[in-house]
Amino acid sequence: MVQTIRLLGDPVLRKRCSPVKDFGSEATRLLIRDLGDTLADFRSRMGFGRGIAAPQIGSASQIIVLDFEIHGALINPKITGRSKRRFRLWDDCFSFPDIMVMVERSYAITVSYRDDRGRRRTHKAEGALSELLQHEIDHLNGVLAIDRALDSKHIILRSEYEKLTRRETMVM
Ligand SMILES: [Zn+2]
Repeated sequence: MVQTIRLLGDPVLRKRCSPVKDFGSEATRLLIRDLGDTLADFRSRMGFGRGIAAPQIGSASQIIVLDFEIHGALINPKITGRSKRRFRLWDDCFSFPDIMVMVERSYAITVSYRDDRGRRRTHKAEGALSELLQHEIDHLNGVLAIDRALDSKHIILRSEYEKLTRRETMVM
């Protein structure tokens, strides 16, 4: 079922999420389904969105759901390795959809997690998937993209960001 997305200022977004212990439980299954439904709904309405974390629908559990390269749930995900190489990008978030933030992330990471059947998995990710995973795993620690802004000048409105990107396209 589509759930309400929690917005910047809601205390649940600042909680440290608890690990999931019972992978096969009905509660876990329903939470994963709701995350998938809410992600699909948001993307159809807003035109962006590749991942969602449980606190964004009010549950302080260590679950993220992606629909980009990996399609499905990552339970209790942990970053176990990072490349020295880093990169910068404009990031956005369902929980503050009108804001863009320039962040710096590891270019490549290794993530360990359990899938929706409780099986241990490891995934090496780079580029877009790497930054998406870092964004979503941050949510499970109560960390938001705005906390990662290069500095306060790199937090801007989406409407202004769109003007910037239009200008850049025109120059090219
Ligand atoms: Zn987010």
